[in-house]
Amino acid sequence: MQNTLQKFLQLSEKLLHDESRKPVADFIPSEELFTALDLDLSEDPLVEEEFDAALENLVLKTPRTATVGFFNQLFGGRNPDAVLGDLLAVMLNNSMYTYKAAGAQIGVEKVILRKVCTMLGWDDKAEGTFAPGGSMTNYMAMVMARDNFDETIKTKGVKDSLMVYTSKESHYSIPKNAAFSGIGRDQVHYIATDDYGRMEVTKLAQAIEADIEIGLKPMMINLTAGTTVLGAFDAIEPVVKLAKIHNIWVHVDGAYCGSVLFSNRYRSLIKGIEQVDSFSFNAHKMLGTPLSCSIIVTRDKKHLHESFSNDASYLYQTDHDEFNLGKMSLQCGRRNDALKFWTLWKSVGTKGLEKIVDHQFDLAQVARNYISSNPDYTLYSYPDSISVCFNYRDIPPRILCTSLYEAQELLVGYGSFGDHEFVRLVTINAQNDAQVILNFFKTLEAFVEKNYLELIAQCGPVEA
Ligand SMILES: *Cc1c(COP(=O)(O)O)cnc(C)c1O
Repeated sequence: MQNTLQKFLQLSEKLLHDESRKPVADFIPSEELFTALDLDLSEDPLVEEEFDAALENLVLKTPRTATVGFFNQLFGGRNPDAVLGDLLAVMLNNSMYTYKAAGAQIGVEKVILRKVCTMLGWDDKAEGTFAPGGSMTNYMAMVMARDNFDETIKTKGVKDSLMVYTSKESHYSIPKNAAFSGIGRDQVHYIATDDYGRMEVTKLAQAIEADIEIGLKPMMINLTAGTTVLGAFDAIEPVVKLAKIHNIWVHVDGAYCGSVLFSNRYRSLIKGIEQVDSFSFNAHKMLGTPLSCSIIVTRDKKHLHESFSNDASYLYQTDHDEFNLGKMSLQCGRRNDALKFWTLWKSVGTKGLEKIVDHQFDLAQVARNYISSNPDYTLYSYPDSISVCFNYRDIPPRILCTSLYEAQELLVGYGSFGDHEFVRLVTINAQNDAQVILNFFKTLEAFVEKNYLELIAQCGPVEA
């Protein structure tokens, strides 16, 4: 093991060194992947030097997500406090199912969940768990909503035409989860958004009433705190009011930006969160822990027990079962995703988490200011979002982003809203400073300057 740890350290140091001078890894076209790298598996063992060389090459040729060149997705950076926790989780290798197997780590998980529930304004009845990512915590919410609507579904299956409401801008895990849970993809009613990407509550009310009229059964409303493209926040309070009238479960998908919970400045973006039935957020997005670290909490723990325990009833649990987290889990064996969040939180305090969140909004403001002050850019996004959407010199964003990637300049993605497609710069890496954001634009501009004709040529003769 000593040897392994040394190897790990050496590889990590090499990677860090290489990243500092080369923020974007070599571009390997997918069709060349298996010839460019020694990935093949053989019958015979490799001699150690060959193994080491293959491994080093693999590490150095892998896309770099922690550098000043990565703005592609809703995560990024490498927070040392959180990394330490995750490395230790691997060393300890507990399964979070039982107290017997995870012991002290159960306490780590419980203390985070308790703290989150308290911050939401929820009492001891509230509870939560971790699952492998936001799609899965959204799935757990949908299963709880479904079973809450009709507890016989667990045993007899879905018979009614249940309905789920979500905005057109919400995450694709919602229809996917509707398929998984037997509700059906076609039972998802997509609600239009306003110009800011937020669900139109009047349209939601109309949709629910029209559906009830024809015998459908509204069962769940999914709201998004930070939509995937624009980073918009659906209003919670009016929706909760509406949901109460019809007895509909309200879930808030905060995978992207639910972590505003930790910020006094931005918490108002999820005003009314204490009134919802369930809430999920990814610490691996805004808070910067390694993937994956996704939490779901519900106001009444009975829902977690009733949907995810194989026991007849949560009521009969012994005190000890409070520490057997498998009774509220999607999984059996479960990785310790809590420790990395705990090492981060323990080290920087709640105030440190707040700083991480606030800094991302500050960086987004730096980006928007830059864009607004430069006539070559068109801005498509709004304050209170860490997704900064723009176009530059009318270059089609697909072409620009793909070219930047292939030229190993920057990893940044594109998205669309309404009729517009645009580059989406996400300021989610709190380790960046304003200079990194300004350098992003400088890099992009220099690249376009050098390659303008080629970029335009790729647009084809007639641009629609
Ligand atoms: C990222 C995201 C998800 C999915 O989370 P994963 O951890 O990638 O599964 C769900 N909803 C929203 C709004 C997201 O941004």
